[in-house]
Amino acid sequence: MQGQQEHGAGAETLVLLGRDAVSGQAPDLPSKALFGRSLGELAEAVVALGEKPYRAKQLADALYRQRIDTLDQMTTLPLVFREKLHAAGWSVGRPPIVESFRSVDGTERYLIQTGGQTVETVWMPEGDDAAEDVEEESTSAGQAGGQGVGWKRATICVSSQIGCAVNCRFCLTAKLGLQRNLTAGEIAGQVVTVLARHGVELNRNRVNLVFMGMGEPFLNYDNFMAAVRLLIEEVGIAAPRMTVSTSGIVPGIERFAAEPERPRLAISLNAPNDEVREAIMPINRKWSINDVLEAVRRIPFKPREKVTFEYVLLDGVTDRPEHADELIGLLRRARLPLMVNLIAWNPGPGIEYSSPSNGAVLAFQKLLLEAGIQTYIRRPRGRDIYAACGQLKRTSEAGSGAPSEGDSRGFPNLA
Ligand code: SF4
Repeated sequence: MQGQQEHGAGAETLVLLGRDAVSGQAPDLPSKALFGRSLGELAEAVVALGEKPYRAKQLADALYRQRIDTLDQMTTLPLVFREKLHAAGWSVGRPPIVESFRSVDGTERYLIQTGGQTVETVWMPEGDDAAEDVEEESTSAGQAGGQGVGWKRATICVSSQIGCAVNCRFCLTAKLGLQRNLTAGEIAGQVVTVLARHGVELNRNRVNLVFMGMGEPFLNYDNFMAAVRLLIEEVGIAAPRMTVSTSGIVPGIERFAAEPERPRLAISLNAPNDEVREAIMPINRKWSINDVLEAVRRIPFKPREKVTFEYVLLDGVTDRPEHADELIGLLRRARLPLMVNLIAWNPGPGIEYSSPSNGAVLAFQKLLLEAGIQTYIRRPRGRDIYAACGQLKRTSEAGSGAPSEGDSRGFPNLA
């Protein structure tokens, strides 16, 4: 799920593209898209054409490792085989970028075509200073490649749904409502399309994935995890390089706990108690903070693994010293290996909250740090192109009046 809102300035330039489907199904994808299929599913398709099963491995390699997006370009496959695929109606079907916007800070935001709609994906060279990046800096220094590509590490923010049903009060995506779930191919396709665009060599360039774009991944659980498995097994990105953020969908957390391989987990907490959380995240009425923490405690964490608590600071609502004190108590009682990402909220159209002052953000962090809680402030990225967390609402242009880069307010991202 994504956090949040967008900044208010320039909001009049946001253009909502069409809303055509309201269901769990992709409406207009090629009916026989190869992309998004597991190795086993590709093998079934290949065998049905009278080909040997090993052709599936070649096909998977072309789709996911070589990132080839048309059958004609798969010249490592015999022409006869490609012609058979064509004749049987198969196509690659990887979702393409239809528009892109580049920020002065290097962040790029893409509109990616998924059926008749677009979904937003963000590329952040050098990451966003959130906890996962800082952690890796200390543990993987020197491993990053990036020679010749102008960046040493990058983070891709991936969407899991078009719109979202969770209705967090501070979130612009919530205003779309749920349009539909993305398929596994559409979720993994965002990643592969962006990797292809930047010529990323995964053995040399350090890339992290955050499932914090539009939508609540745990309300599209099967497709989300199918995408994760594809990304691990076929694309070649290790699970610890991925983080999924949830608003606290307890049944999803419980399923996630049982996964043999899973991304790291972030909980979009955003409040120090149930009363405040219910006011800004109605989902808390269904699953309270305690329900969520109990479910998280059942996850068999690996050594050194931590759960991240995302905390959006809203002026006067969640950013006061007494909120920090209450949060410290809550997190201590949680008895979890954890860290905190603070996200200063930016104003959005039709959303009543206000941004916290820089002083309030720093003071909040200081209190948590003094209490011994590992706490980071997420750096705003791509705010001039509406790419910062919370700004993802399908838009066709980055407008004038967007906040300046000198504005150091935060980078809301919730879940
Ligand atoms: S879960 Fe909440 S913050 Fe995340 S996209 Fe949905 S409404 Fe927005």
